[in-house]
Amino acid sequence: MESIELKEFREMVQRIRKGENVICPSCKKGVFETKGDYRTSPGFQCTHCKARININ
Ligand SMILES: [Zn+2]
Repeated sequence: MESIELKEFREMVQRIRKGENVICPSCKKGVFETKGDYRTSPGFQCTHCKARININ
């Protein structure tokens, strides 16, 4: 999280909310997924390195 610029993070969130596969900026291999609804879920996790992002 700390390494991700705020602007980059916001753009990532917008794409995640559209249901796009967003490449994880930490490992550049996984994509963020959620067990919930991508439009409303507050938490996503990278499929590769398991980095988590939280959207409040
Ligand atoms: Zn990752």
